[in-house]
Amino acid sequence: MQIIGQPNQLTALLGIQYPIIQAGMIWASGWKLASAVSNAGGLGIIGAGSMYPDVLREHIRQCKAATLNPFAVNIPLLYPDLDQLIQIIIEEKVPIVFTSAGNPKTYTGLFKSHGIKVVHVVSSSKFALKAQEAGCDAVVAEGFEAGGHNGREETTTLVLIPAVRKKITIPLIAAGGIATGQQMYAAIALGADGVQVGSRFVCTPEASSHIHFKEAVVAAGEGDTQLSLKKLVPVRLLKNEFFQQVADAEKRGADEAELSHLLGRARAKKGMFEGDLKEGELEIGQVAALIHEIKPAADIVAEMIADYNACADRMPKL
Ligand code: NDP
Ligand code: NDP
Repeated sequence: MQIIGQPNQLTALLGIQYPIIQAGMIWASGWKLASAVSNAGGLGIIGAGSMYPDVLREHIRQCKAATLNPFAVNIPLLYPDLDQLIQIIIEEKVPIVFTSAGNPKTYTGLFKSHGIKVVHVVSSSKFALKAQEAGCDAVVAEGFEAGGHNGREETTTLVLIPAVRKKITIPLIAAGGIATGQQMYAAIALGADGVQVGSRFVCTPEASSHIHFKEAVVAAGEGDTQLSLKKLVPVRLLKNEFFQQVADAEKRGADEAELSHLLGRARAKKGMFEGDLKEGELEIGQVAALIHEIKPAADIVAEMIADYNACADRMPKL
């Protein structure tokens, strides 16, 4: 299972050196993070979910200027001005798009007709098959450990990856709870062709997240994140005052309207971009418990590869 020098179907598809994909994350992954990961041999992704269309165009242009390697844009399909984002992606000739939170049948054909590769994010083997049937080039299967938007069924990465692997033949990227080379080795053993890593890349100088948020992630331990807002859109959050307000409301039996009112607007920006650790929404994965320092994205990629290779050396000796 040695990686270096051995392209697999995923790295060949995306034109990258290592099968490490940096997740598209709202308020964290702009062009600085995406280009740093792409320059380090992985695939960097600009997270468009929190960007107005002109902001996205600017980030794509900056990314192109900062790296000659492939990069991608992630668009949540429930974005309000989706058609504008899609137009920009086509005009700017972005090579790869990651779609999430929506039906892959709607736009995959359009992207592919413009020569753009499409990867769809799913949380079940049923949706993975749907993505393959829609013509997607690859699938990200994201388990319950993941930060931010999460599947309703709470399937963990350890169960999800083998289940999806049985259903699809296109390349499979494992996500949710992966931040180290050891975890990457395990995901590949389960049947994945590569991994998508989110939380680990939040704690980099290149991520646009507020420093208070990065420091809170470094300080987080086991049990400090939990799935929340299941009645609205299930989302894994770092526990803080806002999380507690939601938990109390849910305990009282608050309905969707009350939870929606409590959430209000732009909570995610307040927490992750403006650094309000009390009142903001802080989206991060369980794996925050294993993140102990802020360091450059390139160092994270290099460390993951070194740890993966150490695992590959050790396993046959066991
Ligand atoms: P700036 O444009 O000065 O950006 C502040 C920091 O965030 C800089 O490091 C900047 O990088 C980086 N950054 C800017 N846009 C994004 C982005 N979309 N995603 C990730 N990182 C980003 O801040 P302003 O407050 O002047 O913001 C200008 C506009 O951009 C506003 O509409 C704001 O809401 C929006 N914005 C959106 C973000 C998002 O993630 N959706 C994040 C930041 C701003 P650099 O200086 O290299 O451009
Ligand atoms: P809200 O409705 O609470 O707020 C909208 C936020 O998005 C504001 O901060 C706003 O910036 C920014 N924004 C960027 N572009 C637009 C636009 N065209 N119209 C309106 N607002 C825009 O949404 P959330 O913050 O909860 O979520 C924003 C997006 O991120 C959604 O598309 C959502 O699906 C996605 N998301 C993805 C997650 C993931 O895990 N992939 C997790 C959570 C959300 P400003 O304040 O500067 O106006």
